[in-house]
Amino acid sequence: MLNRRDFMKLGLGACLLPAVGVSRAEAVVSEEMYVFGTLVGVDVLSRNTDAARAAIADVSHRFTQQNRDWHAWKPGALGDLNRALAGGHTHEVAPDLLPLLHQARELARASGGLFNPAIGRLVGLWGFHHDTLPVGAPPHAAAVAELVAAAPSMDDLVFDGRRVGSRNPHVQIDLGGHAKGVALNQALDRLAALGHGNALVNLGGNLAVSGSHGDRPWHIGIRHPQGEGAIASLAVSGRMAVVTSGTYERYRQDGDKRYPHIIDPRSGQPAMHVVSATVLHPDAARADVAATALVVAGSTAWPEVARKLGVNDVMIVDEAGRVQLTPGMAARVHFAEPPASVKTVEIT
Ligand code: AMP
Ligand code: MG
Repeated sequence: MLNRRDFMKLGLGACLLPAVGVSRAEAVVSEEMYVFGTLVGVDVLSRNTDAARAAIADVSHRFTQQNRDWHAWKPGALGDLNRALAGGHTHEVAPDLLPLLHQARELARASGGLFNPAIGRLVGLWGFHHDTLPVGAPPHAAAVAELVAAAPSMDDLVFDGRRVGSRNPHVQIDLGGHAKGVALNQALDRLAALGHGNALVNLGGNLAVSGSHGDRPWHIGIRHPQGEGAIASLAVSGRMAVVTSGTYERYRQDGDKRYPHIIDPRSGQPAMHVVSATVLHPDAARADVAATALVVAGSTAWPEVARKLGVNDVMIVDEAGRVQLTPGMAARVHFAEPPASVKTVEIT
């Protein structure tokens, strides 16, 4: 498991500098855990270390439950639903899962289908429903084409209260592009309900903060998609999420060719051209969905998709290392080193 120094080296961590300016009784209490297949860090600014640790333990317990209930391929609540849908049955879903399905459907529509959590079979076909990364030749073109032609969509789902069915037996729900954002939102809500309104939660480089780090904002690093450390940093306070999707995270290696884990539902092929999309938005779930959708949209179409998803602060890095930023993002980020090419793009 990665230790904190590795975590920081990867640029995944918030820059937890000494708590300058924090009143003497306040301190940042930090814990790390391994959930959602990634290193998770929670930092809480508190006067009461024991209470902060108890709150983090509470949140950590919820992460473990969420990981089980929302997991794309391991046994759990979502797995039960997927099994029922594959068999043509309806299923009464757990109360915690239902709102995710509704929200995922709304956001999938808003993204024009580029974010499509109903393509679990395609994701599995490419080999991403395993703890270890896939290697070797891509799946057969005919198998990919068959799943694309079946066009599984969240709009195939039929809701009747908590009972969920599907008109399309090819629907298999994979919330890998969305659930971490939901978990971030719920973690900050829970910490606030327990009296900790100044917090930072880091799910493998997807971060959300509330309040501030004493009398200064929280400082966040955005991982470099093509190198070591952070490509840029920014300061955030209040309720805000900074979520990054990258094709460097999980991929299928075939000789010197890499096929990333984000699949374009239109072609069934991995999205290759945008190597990372970072979205800044108060709602971490929307930011998570948008980051995934913008990788699929590619380096020309992304502003239109960002507009449809209601996100204004975006940074895109393409395979050649070129950076595109919205004006709002440009005003906030500080690059570790000036990128070779930076373009500011309005979302019209
Ligand atoms: P993220 O890291 O948030 O971009 O999510 C990537 C994960 O979302 C993948 O590992 C898949 O489980 C799933 N996924 C892949 N392609 C898509 C897509 N086009 N729409 C929704 N989810 C996807
Ligand atoms: Mg995502």
